[in-house]
Amino acid sequence: MRRINTEILVIGGGATGAGVLRDLAMRGFKTLLVEKNDLSHGTTGRYHGLLHSGGRYAVNDPQAARECIEENRILRRIMPHCIEDTGGFFVITPWDDLAYAPRFVEGCRQAGIPVEEVPISEMLRQEPLLNPRISQCFRVPDGSADSFLGTDANTESASQHGAQVLTYHQVRRLLVDKETAPPGEPRHVVGAICYDRVHDEEIAIDADLVVNASGAWAGLIAGTVGIKVHIIPGKGTMLAMNHRILNTVVNRCKMPSDGDILVPIHTVTVIGTTDVKVADPDHFPIEPWEVHLCLEEGDKLVPGFKDMRMLRAWAGVRPLYQETEVADTRDVTRAFVLLDHAVRDGVDGLVTITSGKWTTYRKMAEVTADLVCRKLGVQLPCRTHLEVLPGADGHGSLPGGYYYLGGRLAHIEKRAAYGDLICECELATRQDVERAILSGQTWSLDDIRRDVRLGMGPCQGGFCTFRAVGLIHELAAQGKTTMLASLQAEPQALVEQTDLALRDFLQERWKGLLPVLWGQQLRQERLDELIYQSVLNVDHLPGPSTGRLSPELYAPSSTPVPRAQDQTPISSTPRSTGFAGRPDLDLLVIGGGLAGLFAAWQAAAVGQRVKLVTKGWGADYWSAGTIDVLGYYPLDASESILDPSAALRRLIAEHPGHPYAIVGMERISAALGAMQDISQQLGYPLHGSLESNWLLPSALGAARPTCLAPQTMIAGDLRQSGEMLLVGFRRFPDFYPSLAAGNLSLQGIPARGVSLDLPALDGRRFVTARVLAEMCASPTFIGAIAAALRPFLDGAARVGFPAVLGFENAVQVQARLQETLGVPVFEIPTLPPSIPGMRLHRLLLRIIREAGGRVYEGMQALHAEHDGVRILQVFTEAAARQKAHRARNFLLATGGLLGGGLYSDYTGKVTETVFGLPLQDTPERTAWFESAFLAPQGHPVYRLGLSTDERLRPVAGSGNPVFANLFAAGASLGGCDPVRERSLEGLALATAYHAARSVLEFD
Ligand SMILES: Cc1cc2nc3c(=O)[nH]c(=O)nc-3n(C[C@H](O)[C@H](O)[C@H](O)COP(=O)(O)OP(=O)(O)OC[C@H]3O[C@@H](n4cnc5c(N)ncnc54)[C@H](O)[C@@H]3O)c2cc1C
Repeated sequence: MRRINTEILVIGGGATGAGVLRDLAMRGFKTLLVEKNDLSHGTTGRYHGLLHSGGRYAVNDPQAARECIEENRILRRIMPHCIEDTGGFFVITPWDDLAYAPRFVEGCRQAGIPVEEVPISEMLRQEPLLNPRISQCFRVPDGSADSFLGTDANTESASQHGAQVLTYHQVRRLLVDKETAPPGEPRHVVGAICYDRVHDEEIAIDADLVVNASGAWAGLIAGTVGIKVHIIPGKGTMLAMNHRILNTVVNRCKMPSDGDILVPIHTVTVIGTTDVKVADPDHFPIEPWEVHLCLEEGDKLVPGFKDMRMLRAWAGVRPLYQETEVADTRDVTRAFVLLDHAVRDGVDGLVTITSGKWTTYRKMAEVTADLVCRKLGVQLPCRTHLEVLPGADGHGSLPGGYYYLGGRLAHIEKRAAYGDLICECELATRQDVERAILSGQTWSLDDIRRDVRLGMGPCQGGFCTFRAVGLIHELAAQGKTTMLASLQAEPQALVEQTDLALRDFLQERWKGLLPVLWGQQLRQERLDELIYQSVLNVDHLPGPSTGRLSPELYAPSSTPVPRAQDQTPISSTPRSTGFAGRPDLDLLVIGGGLAGLFAAWQAAAVGQRVKLVTKGWGADYWSAGTIDVLGYYPLDASESILDPSAALRRLIAEHPGHPYAIVGMERISAALGAMQDISQQLGYPLHGSLESNWLLPSALGAARPTCLAPQTMIAGDLRQSGEMLLVGFRRFPDFYPSLAAGNLSLQGIPARGVSLDLPALDGRRFVTARVLAEMCASPTFIGAIAAALRPFLDGAARVGFPAVLGFENAVQVQARLQETLGVPVFEIPTLPPSIPGMRLHRLLLRIIREAGGRVYEGMQALHAEHDGVRILQVFTEAAARQKAHRARNFLLATGGLLGGGLYSDYTGKVTETVFGLPLQDTPERTAWFESAFLAPQGHPVYRLGLSTDERLRPVAGSGNPVFANLFAAGASLGGCDPVRERSLEGLALATAYHAARSVLEFD
């Protein structure tokens, strides 16, 4: 076993441990910190974000209140860049006791906390969203603080003073001088045995003294040498909203309770917390009632809060120390506790520092280091309150001052680095991410997240996960980082480890999303699923699905979700007040995705008067731009379907309620044929047939089964032989050729990658798919690509590019490149926006207009009017009024949960948004999701949708159509999961074709 020697061993890489490490290192001790995960992985990284003024404890815990205000002042001085000076309000809402206010003010005065009453008009001027029924408001010096940055700054400072940090080193047991001493005989702790989780080995650390700063785990560590330290893990759950609704910390002015603080931190606002005693600090659930409670309580502070978009939920455990057990953890002091086990338990060489707050971490470290000095017989003064922590001149803060929200943006604007963004939500640049990868301290994407806030914004890693793994792989392949190399047994497993890092991070993000997936966030998550499953096919990449550092979910919740209310439509459908008259349209199509466009064209082509209204552009803009008909059946099949026709027949026989079964084979085939005809006619042919799926490479190098593919893609079919050369462009962040080639090679398909450095791209602010596609209109640019590529061809049998080879002229660009390079060329779809999807969209728009149909974008259908039998008119939002659209028939193609055609709220209620149509049985909210993001069988909620009759008219429970002239197509239909089936476009075309025929045949 490897042995390390140090003077002081600090256990725990949270705020307390990092503070102790710094203090001891500054006093001159040789100090080593071990942390079982990443720094700040424990409670420190899961706290609420509040730099306490002490106001919260002013009435019930005066000692904690005094500690907070004293430290608040010091931290503002030594680490301003980790703190945002938001200020804090304590407010009396109509639900709070007015008599608390004078006690609060008196408590603050006693503890030395500056407090002043703020007129309500002034409060509302500063925070207009606060409840106007608030009757009193007091200002205190609260703030918000970035604990990740704080820990890093402390360990960085400690390192500058010679300290060492070992992350992913778990203390398995403390070492004592007399392992077999009888109880009661004095013993001495002399170090610890640690497990190195990255390299899978045990090491022994010898130390003169051990500081146990392991927070809620302190009792477990002490227990390894028989010492009883009673820590109550007090779980608190918090929710982050997707934006800052406030710029000031707002507390309810009452005894501390659940869900009574809103903290603005970075780009979000966080509400919390609950406080529940749990048995195990590592395994606990986030209960639905906690989420609901936070929403309901938040609504009291900010009316409308519970309907706002929540981004994520998380929970941490307070290390609450108690000599004897208590029933309610809020009764336990928040003041900190320092235990000298020589005095308390007769075991020398060990001290435990625990409880307290993030706000008091420095003081906790100071008293601990003082005790260490006394125990080792030296007198060395503390200096941590005098010296500013490193990083204060970083780009996130005002020079020498507090962090401010605009800091990152200002930095990016100054450097004109918009094109370098890897995480657009959190403004993390390529340089930021690369720095984190190269730091030597990161072992997973989640570690990078803690360093640069990667994936912490609204899309929760939807785009940046792919980009960050691309960068990791690039740097690892160049030997610049050992981040992945250390996790693998064999060097050739680099690609597999990259895939694992990707899957792990997707799962880690999923963990915190699960409790808050409804409304817009559920829509966002479905988009992420579309990207990672349908476009990138991550679940069919080679390599292991879990590893040693893979994340664990929260424990399953043990309580039900509060019941959903009855299904009532968001938009009312009032009965007609006597409208009569001839409709101006034969068909009004609602929704501008593939289904809506295709149906509109079908009707317009035979002379119907057709209008299409759509809020947005549909899933074509996000998907691969191929026509996927059926890729996997059953859903959890590991092998892709090669003959979709045979698989469809089986699916139709086994699932008579599936939309494909309603449409039938004949019309599925006719729909695809019609689509092929127009694509051919307009010079962008879609090749393929129902008898055979193509197997095309995804941008990660997985094999994507698809039925019809544009001419620009088919030379990439993986069943053809010959080495592939995959080509990326430097500064284009959405394609990593070496990683895709690596995955293909792992699957036995010879491939290599090259990234071109083109002068034409220098000086461009952005190098996006759209920019590249527009540049491809220029023959000079195509010539430059070919010239730069020629030296790398070296026997390659075909060349693959990201799907950016132009808009209208893609086939010509492909032909030109083929001619110049002398080998077949193909495109590979990558992250949205999808250029091939946009081509299909434009093509359909053109043909509808040519046939006399009209398409209106940016028009959201709100509700309809009917006479009980037929829909009469649909209303859309217009500038100053609602505009009525009258038609003989209506076709709903609003795209389900992804498109916004279905909307869910936090109670588990799901609604069809235009007509309030009945949905197939909605599962209980607890049954909406599987525990794994990539669960092969998909998530039950996504099968939810409309039931229809054989003409695709939505039906009620009776099985009868709700309206005689209302039809539906595309992803609004239930009984299928188009993303998992890889049937998104096939279903859209087939159901649109059938619905349009139904309209025409029975009209
Ligand atoms: C829900 C909640 C909200 C809070 N909000 C606030 C707030 O707004 N403001 C505030 O000031 N305070 C707040 N706190 C309190 C504050 O977060 C904690 O007091 C503080 O973060 C504790 O830091 P720590 O370093 O002692 O513990 P931790 O951060 O938990 O660090 C202990 C570390 O020890 C590691 N460890 C455990 N076992 C081992 C082992 N065997 N080997 C190696 N390492 C090990 C853990 O992984 C962990 O990283 C909140 C706490 C909770 C739970």
